[in-house]
Amino acid sequence: MVIAVASEKGGTGKTTVAAALAELARTAMIADCDVEAPNLHLLLKPRVLRSYSLNLSRKARIDPEKCTQCGECEEKCRFEAIRGFQVDPHACEGCGLCFRLCPVGAVSMEQPEGAEVFIGETPYGEMVWARLAVGEEASGKVVSQVRMEAQATAVEKGYELLIIDGSPGIGCPVIASVTGADLALLVAEPTLSGRHDLLRALRTAAFFRIPSMVCINKCDINEVEAERIIADCASLGVPVVAEIPYLEELAEAARLCMTPMEVVQGEAARIFRRLHERVMENLRLSHSRTNI
Ligand code: SF4
Ligand code: SF4
Repeated sequence: MVIAVASEKGGTGKTTVAAALAELARTAMIADCDVEAPNLHLLLKPRVLRSYSLNLSRKARIDPEKCTQCGECEEKCRFEAIRGFQVDPHACEGCGLCFRLCPVGAVSMEQPEGAEVFIGETPYGEMVWARLAVGEEASGKVVSQVRMEAQATAVEKGYELLIIDGSPGIGCPVIASVTGADLALLVAEPTLSGRHDLLRALRTAAFFRIPSMVCINKCDINEVEAERIIADCASLGVPVVAEIPYLEELAEAARLCMTPMEVVQGEAARIFRRLHERVMENLRLSHSRTNI
């Protein structure tokens, strides 16, 4: 069973919720697909078991020893990535045109390291995450690799549950992190923009035919918008599985790199436990439907 914890934007508490689910599940495979801002490993503190490099994009390089400075490549590069017979690696899109047209073979195409993928062990199960090389943008390819690695490990080690901390947004990385999930748990904050973002995220999940549930984080910072989100979800038939109030201890826990269940107590701990129970109930239902 695969659950993707997602949100349209970073900073909604998505990682906190994913960490709490991992803690409460006790045994799960965990994948941090938020490759642009991976934070889950800071909370779950995995012991690294292995890691490997991932090459992403090709970049052109000009050999100054061979270049005759004819200017052909600079003139034809559509991305204006060549200046003064040197390639700007941040502007180069790797199309290979300069490589093909250089009359003296001075251009080579290289694949610098784009990301490092880590596989580690947490007290709650194994975990996969990635670190992008400086200047690399979050790409669907890195997210797909993290997912593939997590899914392969889950099958190999017999994990029944895969928890994905999804990439925020609506582009390629978020699609790569949620596709194929049995359920998307969308974390939203009750603000005007948060509600708008949630509705877009719900539409994205519906487009990919992924059943959704909603968790409202910091539900008491704007009770009017929280009520509107609840009403929107009711009209769309999407369950709201938790309303988490603003909790000072969660902000402190994130600062100290502690997990949510290490710090919350009393009613707050009960809210997280109920969230976990309702997520698991819906996940089992959804999984059994998709596997008929
Ligand atoms: S096309 Fe080749 S020789 Fe001409 S400027 Fe570019 S790298 Fe140098
Ligand atoms: S590979 Fe394409 S984008 Fe990169 S420098 Fe050459 S022509 Fe420009």
